[in-house]
Amino acid sequence: MGVLAALGASPIQQHFPRRLQRPLSHRSYALSVMASAAGGGSSSKPIPRVVICGGGIIGACTAHYLAEKGLAEGVTLVERGEPACAASGKAGGFLALDWNDSSPVGPLARLSYRLHTQLADQLGAERLGYRGVHTLQVVGVEKPPGGGGGRRLRGAEKLPDWVDGHVVGMSEMGDPSNTAQVHPHKLTTALLESALTRGSRLLRGCVEGLRLEDVEGGGRRVTGVVVDGAVLPADVAVIALGPWSGAARDWFRSSPSVTTHPSTASSSSPSSSPLAPPLLQGPPLLPHLSISGQKYHSVVLRPRRPVSDHMLFTGFKYASGLPPAPSSVPPSSGRTVEPEVYPRPDGSVYVCGEPQSLPVPPSAEGVTVEGDLIDNIRRVAGSLASCLAEAPEETRQACYLPCAPDGLPVIGPVPGCAGAFLATGHTCWGILNGPATGLLLAEWIEAGRPSSCGERELGAFSPGRFAARA
Ligand SMILES: Cc1cc2nc3c(=O)[nH]c(=O)nc-3n(C[C@H](O)[C@H](O)[C@H](O)COP(=O)(O)OP(=O)(O)OC[C@H]3O[C@@H](n4cnc5c(N)ncnc54)[C@H](O)[C@@H]3O)c2cc1C
Repeated sequence: MGVLAALGASPIQQHFPRRLQRPLSHRSYALSVMASAAGGGSSSKPIPRVVICGGGIIGACTAHYLAEKGLAEGVTLVERGEPACAASGKAGGFLALDWNDSSPVGPLARLSYRLHTQLADQLGAERLGYRGVHTLQVVGVEKPPGGGGGRRLRGAEKLPDWVDGHVVGMSEMGDPSNTAQVHPHKLTTALLESALTRGSRLLRGCVEGLRLEDVEGGGRRVTGVVVDGAVLPADVAVIALGPWSGAARDWFRSSPSVTTHPSTASSSSPSSSPLAPPLLQGPPLLPHLSISGQKYHSVVLRPRRPVSDHMLFTGFKYASGLPPAPSSVPPSSGRTVEPEVYPRPDGSVYVCGEPQSLPVPPSAEGVTVEGDLIDNIRRVAGSLASCLAEAPEETRQACYLPCAPDGLPVIGPVPGCAGAFLATGHTCWGILNGPATGLLLAEWIEAGRPSSCGERELGAFSPGRFAARA
């Protein structure tokens, strides 16, 4: 909290747009609210009450980096199911240093790639399933042209010996200096544990809204998070609900204000009283906020032989027979599919594929697994490597990756609502970019501005792009 003291201002005000800055009297009010929340009205180290909504990789990284800054005791993470029950526990965990360099995500990804190395040092590479890897693009066909075997292509000697199927093309995409992997479920839960052991709280419940109040001079600020109908007092709310984050569009509202409940302001637990009177809300601050999900199936196999650290990005053409196409793909003969095959340090092999643009069910519990699509993934994996064809299955699963309409993450403060942050829309790179996202949010919350990435570089991710257009 040295930064806070040095700046002489609350983190909430630091990210507040200049035209909405509050007079000094309000500044000292905000500090005193946080000081009392931390358990000591006279404390010189105010700890903001931060409620992180969502126990995926983004929520867990945010909790970890807040703990690194000494703010763990003010943090409550609210999760509806188990931590990492959605994409963050079911993703592949592939990491790349520079694959995003041609997009605005490049600097975030580079920072995050470096943070993954630090996390492996800090928390233990084995515990996180972290290692540098070789990465190959492999093109295969179900049956080789002319009926011959695989491995006739130039450069085939670079293929690992367990890839013994009908490969007709291959190129190198990365090596351990610029590609790596983690086990997403292990990473997410280890990061959360890192915060919980330092005093953060995990609350099982469903976030249903925010409690806001008007700020003198304009704008609004967070005073609480509504969890299962009760108000959890908060100075800061981080919305990290993955593909469910679009619900927050209705939570960020301008005046007329909701009625506040002073009785809940000093408690650190949700109020037991139901929300009453009903919320009186103004127009949404982010009317264009929309987060959708893209569904993917995956399977974890346990081959009976050792498999090397070669990640395979495949292009695979079915030569015969027509596997059922996902509902978003028009059926056609010779369908090409692109499963990704990730051997893991524990000897298992993760394979995912079959994207579908489908509505996100109300919760992770409601995500269904279609056996036919898993069979398709298995069929491709088995055609590339006989050890995968024969491998027993450990898990078959499906999940949704979170997407904003422009395909970019949504990271940062919500304009016009002090203390409100969004962190979602990480598409297929949420495991890679989770640490940088969590670190930047922790910096925003602690110091009022991010310091590990330039604000200009972060501009493309601003939630402000979903605000009302003039
Ligand atoms: C098949 C697949 C493979 C992938 N592989 C990779 C990869 O190799 N590398 C990579 O970098 N990324 C990968 N990704 C992307 C990555 O998994 C996601 O971007 C990331 O997990 C999103 O994390 P999140 O925390 O935003 O969301 P989620 O993991 O979806 O977490 C959101 C959490 O919020 C909870 N929640 C929702 N609503 C509420 C509520 N109202 N109240 C309380 N809790 C709630 C949910 O239960 C959930 O636990 C992959 C994704 C998929 C689908």
